[in-house]
Amino acid sequence: MFSLKKYRKILVNKVYRADRYFNLFSEGETVILGISGGEDSLFMADILYHYKIQFNRNFKIIGVHVDNGLKPLKDTEKLRKFLEDRGIEFEYVKDEDTVHIIENRLKPFKPCYICAKERRKRLIYKAKEKGAPKIALAHTIDDAIETLLLNIFYAREISTMVPKQPLFSESFFVIRPIILIEKEEILRYLHLAGLYENLEGECPYAEKSRRETVREILSYLYKKDPQVKKNLKYSLFECKQDYLWKKFREYRKKIIG
Ligand code: SF4
Repeated sequence: MFSLKKYRKILVNKVYRADRYFNLFSEGETVILGISGGEDSLFMADILYHYKIQFNRNFKIIGVHVDNGLKPLKDTEKLRKFLEDRGIEFEYVKDEDTVHIIENRLKPFKPCYICAKERRKRLIYKAKEKGAPKIALAHTIDDAIETLLLNIFYAREISTMVPKQPLFSESFFVIRPIILIEKEEILRYLHLAGLYENLEGECPYAEKSRRETVREILSYLYKKDPQVKKNLKYSLFECKQDYLWKKFREYRKKIIG
């Protein structure tokens, strides 16, 4: 069993590797952290605080919580204190529209899709207001693997979330600083540090999702063969175009039927 100090060092090093190889942070810039109040976002705030100290990095982080009324924070002041204790400015954004769009079915009823899209939109508005060229989201390597399978199973494509995603002709970026870290590592760290907290409320639409189905499949496979997880991680780097059928794409409906 690692001590907290040693374990933190291992995880900070994973943030360092993500930053180094995916070129996430630049000196002197401001980055908006999307903070839902769940474990992953609290972890991201904490580990970035330690990353900045340990590697003497000079960038400013602002934690932004978008409240769209679907999953209200259990304790806003606790979140504010958590961030401010780590030198992170806290911003609270109220969004009155999303719940209206979903409840009144003003668009095709895809609550999670609409919710995520609208939340990201508001994070981008806040980033623009603060002169920040990046928003950081707390996605893990498990999220990337699940998304890869979700997109194959339900979206008919082979793709996943990337560590650094350019938007608006590369004038803006979504970055994922904890993308090399596993969910299990986050939970172990938060418990070890006595920081385990989930400040997110319950969402009425949080029923059994497709993501949970994929998680169950993966968990079954990981138990049968622990190497599967490592193989999936490596597969994110290896796309053999010649072994896919993309060149026949325009005829796919005629071929598949
Ligand atoms: S479960 Fe609720 S809060 Fe979460 S993405 Fe879906 S609609 Fe939004």
